[in-house]
Amino acid sequence: MRYSQLLIPTVKEVPAEAEIASHQLMIRAGFIRKLASGTYTYLPLGLKMLNKVTAIIRQEMNATGAQEILMPIVQPMELWEQTGRRTAYGENLGWFTDRHGRQNVLSPTAEEIVTTLVAGEIRSYKQLPINLYQINTKFRDEFRPRFGVLRSREFLMKDAYSFHADLPSLEQTYRQMYEAYCRIFARCGLPYVVVEADSGPIGGSASHEFMVPTDTGEDLLFYTADGSYAANVDRAEVDPPAKQPPADSPAMQEVHTPNTGTIEAVCEFLRTRREELIKTLVFKADERIIVGLVRGDHEINAAKLSRSAGAESVDLAGEGDIMNLTGAAVGFAGPMGMAEKADLMLIDHAVAAMAVGIAGANKTDYHVRHVVPGRDFPLGGDRVAVTDIRNAIQGDVHAGKVLLSRRGIEVGHVFKLGTKYSEKLNACFLDANGQERPCIMGCYGIGVNRVIASAIETGNDANGCILPIAIAPFEVEVLSINADNAQVTGMAEKLYAELTHAGADVLLDDRPVRAGVKFKDADLLGIPLRLVVGEKALAAGKTELKRRTDEKPAMVGLDDAVAETLKALDQLRAACRPEHA
Ligand code: ATP
Ligand code: MG
Repeated sequence: MRYSQLLIPTVKEVPAEAEIASHQLMIRAGFIRKLASGTYTYLPLGLKMLNKVTAIIRQEMNATGAQEILMPIVQPMELWEQTGRRTAYGENLGWFTDRHGRQNVLSPTAEEIVTTLVAGEIRSYKQLPINLYQINTKFRDEFRPRFGVLRSREFLMKDAYSFHADLPSLEQTYRQMYEAYCRIFARCGLPYVVVEADSGPIGGSASHEFMVPTDTGEDLLFYTADGSYAANVDRAEVDPPAKQPPADSPAMQEVHTPNTGTIEAVCEFLRTRREELIKTLVFKADERIIVGLVRGDHEINAAKLSRSAGAESVDLAGEGDIMNLTGAAVGFAGPMGMAEKADLMLIDHAVAAMAVGIAGANKTDYHVRHVVPGRDFPLGGDRVAVTDIRNAIQGDVHAGKVLLSRRGIEVGHVFKLGTKYSEKLNACFLDANGQERPCIMGCYGIGVNRVIASAIETGNDANGCILPIAIAPFEVEVLSINADNAQVTGMAEKLYAELTHAGADVLLDDRPVRAGVKFKDADLLGIPLRLVVGEKALAAGKTELKRRTDEKPAMVGLDDAVAETLKALDQLRAACRPEHA
């Protein structure tokens, strides 16, 4: 294609609102334009990239036997009420009332729809397993859309849903999807890691996330140096620390600590360190009141807490519930008496290991010193459990190995769902004995836009994008300098035609602009290979061939230019090819 005929509105200035490289570069390179908060238009080059990613996804999904379908974006609210997800999705759910007064959801995902479909079409175990997928727009009314298309409100997702008669069949498809995802991300040229992820109340390691490691990622992952373990923050299990030797602690002592409703304020007031405090947090899960205890320097993890409590999700309790429970203002809750008052008290291992600590007194403006876990509040019993409910931190230990941490972008997620949706939406089949049973399900998502943005986030330099060959809008850019010289432009046209004929995806920068402008734009767009035709080199019978990652171009004889470019192209393509593809 010809640059002069494409809408590629590159910009020099870094857009003020764009905080991270990929967001800045996608705008500067003219790949996307913002319409409103969290919604973007894809311009020709951006769309070309999206299409390359979806083509790879389709190929790999189809190769596993998954079947592509297309489901409506506008979905009846009743289905979301039937599964209880209207509430579970909360404010993120976008919906509207139509002219007939019916409520409709804008699809944030499609379990309800695909399960309803299968409920109507599948009767017998002989029709199972089946894996259905679509590549379609999703809408989520994200609280804080940011980082361009990485967290937008409207985005493109590949979502697949598999249905099975038994667990081994689910296991098999799950493995297949996992492996297909590895091939997809490898082919897209993404550096990725797979981590164990939270699977909610289903339990087990029934969920994996595919993460692109980068400091600007919103997710936190933990891994061991030998690569034997990797998990996201909601999953990363921490070994319990050794119990501190018992201190000969005096009895508890109440201290007046006015206006110290935060950990910082207490530490300053009592001149103590955070790790000497016991933080008492109050949560609600449905109608249950759950108290969580973590050390002052640790953060409680809501997903771990939910799992330990056997709840779908937990929310921080409101002021009223906290005052009811503790009889004190927020910020002064403590563990004493909570085993009796709360429905459940979950104590983090690190708190149970403390010899002594400082806690809230359940009395406004008071704390208690010399609190001894096990003496002043129980470490076991009917409604008390010691467990892992905090965020891991770098240096924690898992199965005897030190955990390292880094940030990452979640690009994909595979999930064993079980029968949660099939039971509620009655997607049943008759087994070999004529018994009716609910289908066992798996689901598998990829954020298509995130694939592009994370490729740019991890592939760029001061001059612009450095794109993986398989998803770059073009593989080769042919660039003519001295655009007023007919010999130069003639040669550029010839090379462009020959490369295109040989199957390369080529952009010809045929604009009548200065060479400097063309070079700058070429660097910004980040097309992997560049072939330059200029007056001087041409007179010497040569052209310049340069990878986007090369410091300097290589001089190539005119007769070899096409062959050399194709050779370099093959090498780049091979680097993005998983071994068995
Ligand atoms: P996150 O934790 O980042 O909000 P999620 O876990 O809610 O994402 P899933 O429901 O697992 O997302 O959706 C499948 C995939 O869709 C994700 O792995 C991600 O790549 C993509 N995705 C989810 N939310 C967004 C968004 N707001 N913008 C762009 N892509 C998204
Ligand atoms: Mg996810």
